[in-house]
Amino acid sequence: MSEYIDATQLRKALTVLKPDNMPFELRILMKPKGTLSGYFNDIDVAIEALSKQNLRNANVFFTLNDLKDGVADRLQKDKIIVPENTTSDQDIQGYSWLLVDFDPVRAAGISSTNAQIEIAKTKANTVLHFLSKQGFEKPVVAMSGNGMHLLYRIKISTTCASDIENCLKAIDMLFSDDDVKIDTSTYNPSRICKMYGTLAQKGSGTEERPHRMSYLVSVPDTVKITDIAYVRKVADMLPKKEAPQAYNNYNPRQFDVVEWMQKHGIRYTEKAGNDYTKYILDNCPFDNNHKAPDSMITVGKSGAIGFKCLHNSCQHREWKDVRLLFEPDAYDASEDDERINAGWRRHKLHNRDKEIIYEDFEEEVPEVPMFLTANAILAMPNETEDYIRSGIDGIDNRMRGLKKGAVSVLSGLRGGSKSTLLTGIALAAVEDGHNVITYSGELTSKNFMKWMYLQAAGKNHTKQSKEWSNYYYVEPETKKKIADWLGDKFLLYNNDYGNNFMKLLGRLKTQIAEHKTDLLILDNLMTLDIHELDRDQWTQQKIFIQTLCQLAKKTVTHIIFVAHPRKSGGFLRLQDVSGTNDLVNAVDNAFIVHRNNNDFKKLSKDMFQWKDDNPVYKGTNIIEIAKDRDTGFQDIFIPLWYEQESKRLRNSEAEMVSYGWDDNDGWMNAADDFDLIPF
Ligand SMILES: [Zn+2]
Repeated sequence: MSEYIDATQLRKALTVLKPDNMPFELRILMKPKGTLSGYFNDIDVAIEALSKQNLRNANVFFTLNDLKDGVADRLQKDKIIVPENTTSDQDIQGYSWLLVDFDPVRAAGISSTNAQIEIAKTKANTVLHFLSKQGFEKPVVAMSGNGMHLLYRIKISTTCASDIENCLKAIDMLFSDDDVKIDTSTYNPSRICKMYGTLAQKGSGTEERPHRMSYLVSVPDTVKITDIAYVRKVADMLPKKEAPQAYNNYNPRQFDVVEWMQKHGIRYTEKAGNDYTKYILDNCPFDNNHKAPDSMITVGKSGAIGFKCLHNSCQHREWKDVRLLFEPDAYDASEDDERINAGWRRHKLHNRDKEIIYEDFEEEVPEVPMFLTANAILAMPNETEDYIRSGIDGIDNRMRGLKKGAVSVLSGLRGGSKSTLLTGIALAAVEDGHNVITYSGELTSKNFMKWMYLQAAGKNHTKQSKEWSNYYYVEPETKKKIADWLGDKFLLYNNDYGNNFMKLLGRLKTQIAEHKTDLLILDNLMTLDIHELDRDQWTQQKIFIQTLCQLAKKTVTHIIFVAHPRKSGGFLRLQDVSGTNDLVNAVDNAFIVHRNNNDFKKLSKDMFQWKDDNPVYKGTNIIEIAKDRDTGFQDIFIPLWYEQESKRLRNSEAEMVSYGWDDNDGWMNAADDFDLIPF
């Protein structure tokens, strides 16, 4: 071996990055010029061949991605020679690594200083944390000799090169600064990368700017594949083109962001990048505590505009939301989707200081006239319009969420994830500061919390069981943090007190008043003992539902309860929800959860003449708005994506929600409790 190779590091790197005898090319670029190349699939043969070379003034690289069959059989198979051909983009079968390269800004052809390496490390930490929050798996972290590398395992076709390119461009846009640049050119399929375990020889190698050995800094226990959906999610943070008529109906012209920011008193620092200009805002428009450089408005070369704030609470905020904040009527209200989006994004927490006055649930004599004039109606106080965000975008967008004072029924076949869905709703409510009470008739409190912890934790914070591969758990420290965050906002009824409905009702009335409950979840009707309400089963249910409706109204609480369907298979419709029609008629909203299985596909196609490419079929589960009294919506199907590690039902394939227990919105400061950060 020589001073140019660290064989241990070299072996480690190839074992991690080229597992299972994956063939790869080693390429040596010599100074002043000259290229050598060799193809290998045996790590020992590669190290042996490399150690025979004189690597003085030479830098060694390897191909990151998957070679097509036969490419490695070129002349230089198993040896390093002057090549006829080296690997080109056409030789690559697919991407196996996404390389995020942090390069300190310095003059060409020289090595970095130690101080520059430190700055690159800090930046790599930040980006690692950011990408984890987006749902990326843990990367392999490497020191290239002059900067830092994050290597994410991916399995992506070369036809998706633009997704990788745009993902890198977005990371560059968000994080590159005057000291460190994120290389946006590492997306091409045949990209070569510094061979870790070899000496980086840039410049003359002075004391201040030394040649350094490259090496793997950290390797996760299991290198998991990051799904392309997450890559696309980050790519999607690039600015987007807006329809010109939205700017100005009379004179469609390029929207002048700078003029607009000045008009609205938004202070910024301008930074010109290669593809974009970014305006780093002194303060995030949504939260003054989010200071520069955490939020920015970005403008692409084509005039496309974007907004990104790196704080958790702003993760859904886009440019449109910024604009709407200052100009509520900026967009054409006739565009339904726009209206819907704007509606939920502007969704604010309402003042929840309310006095709940309890009376008995007897028929009351209203103190208003029986027949009303228009003026009498005008004089009546407006109905309170308080909504609880459900966390399911399709519901929050269309219905503004779950209305306080209203009652919802949720039904679905076994295995359709009804309870999972309700736990998600409870977590979203707690996240927004609401108080929640849950009755769970089928689960012990420990078991109920086991699911809740998984969902609250998210896949970054769940661990896979060593014995059973599809069993996940949450570690005690994380549970404690979640329990502290839930505090007394979330209360679970203790089943030791029994399931007699009338008794439960009495306890709920008291508890709701004391707890100022906003959301009551009853899972499920069948486990509640309602026999004493009446001898007849249908009358029992009728009284049950009437009682719930009164309770919801009086206490301005949203109540959602689960009712099982009357059938055990097929395509569930509203009339299949158990109980009399009274039940479905009495509730304000009805939701049905479906599993996206063959039955669902076949029967929904028959019923609605849907095609195979209907977006509903993309999800793993579907929630249907079967009834919404306020809007009249029905037959609205919303796809959801199940995540095995966390049992979450997500709004998109790449959704990654962080609840308040995780970071208190200080994502930058969260670095210290983030166990992945290797530096
Ligand atoms: Zn913000």
